[in-house]
Amino acid sequence: MSDKYAIDSHKLSFHPTRVAQWIEASDDLEKLKNIYPIYVEISPVGACNHRCTFCGVDYIGYQNIRWEADLLKQRLGEMAQKGVKSVMFAGEGEPLLHKELDDIIEHCTNIGLDSSITTNFVMLNEKNVYKIFKNASWVKISINAGTKETYSQIHRTKADDFDKVLENMKLAVKTRKENNFSCTLGAQMLLLPENKDEALVLAKKVKELGLDYLVIKPYSQHLFSETKKYKDIDYKPMLELEKELEKLNDEHFNVVFRSNTMKKLETGHSYKKCYSTPYFWAHLMANGDLYGCSAYLQQSKFCYGNLKESSFETAWESEKRLASITYVKEKLDISGCRANCRMDEVNRYLWRLKNPQNHDNFI
Ligand code: SF4
Repeated sequence: MSDKYAIDSHKLSFHPTRVAQWIEASDDLEKLKNIYPIYVEISPVGACNHRCTFCGVDYIGYQNIRWEADLLKQRLGEMAQKGVKSVMFAGEGEPLLHKELDDIIEHCTNIGLDSSITTNFVMLNEKNVYKIFKNASWVKISINAGTKETYSQIHRTKADDFDKVLENMKLAVKTRKENNFSCTLGAQMLLLPENKDEALVLAKKVKELGLDYLVIKPYSQHLFSETKKYKDIDYKPMLELEKELEKLNDEHFNVVFRSNTMKKLETGHSYKKCYSTPYFWAHLMANGDLYGCSAYLQQSKFCYGNLKESSFETAWESEKRLASITYVKEKLDISGCRANCRMDEVNRYLWRLKNPQNHDNFI
């Protein structure tokens, strides 16, 4: 099945110099200190207008806090200068609840940072749509049902929000077309027993509306999430959905059915150490705390400082991060990490670089 954006894989191999810097640094802490992330996830706000039944960050509590736009822009400038290439606005709240997100995204373009948003899309409007679609590389809409009734049960919101999201998809597609913008517009459904019979309905709807893709991905239990109801979902009987869905693929639309990720739920980690944290990615919370891994938010061993109080460089090169480098290398037991975490494919790649297999020299 077509996955043009390597959503079910990874893209670290396209950044050989950063990877070479990490390999060359080996165990030298002074050198490792200077390896900056390529990709940073950012929560512009802590609040959310929905309460999805599967939410992995429910334990953070949807706090009503936000980044002040000018300060966040300053920190983004520091990130760009230190070699960060891309940011995704998402995190523990709904990013479009930040009224100045469109300006922040425009700022990313001005300083050479690629930007993206993962959103429930309810808050898109005539005012913010232009700048967002002019500047973002991609927008991914979290929509977890094919009908408004199921949507309201899973997102735990009013059913009308489903219609609003479909209307906003139309607005986004129209704005993109009229202005010849290149921003990719996709949707994502987390596959659950409650929505599995609606995957095809949703795929047909979003294709008709002019979206570029629909990702269907499995649930994975978040370590600290209060929600446990989905932790034992068996995806084997759902794998057959892929055949029906791929009939919708054409040159303008793809369903990315993440069967690779579903199958990996059975097999577990194929590596023994996490090599992506705390190097190639980071997560910035709405309260300003900077973390090395988004699966360990609020865990002090992964927190390097607060960017509302100090610069990005100060936090990233801090003693706390150095201690975290040693902790992840020597103490972290990854069997306790979230299955299929965001860096799983990156970790597989890095592990193989450090532990080559017999034929890897026959390029
Ligand atoms: S959850 Fe993934 S990225 Fe985070 S520390 Fe564990 S293996 Fe590394």
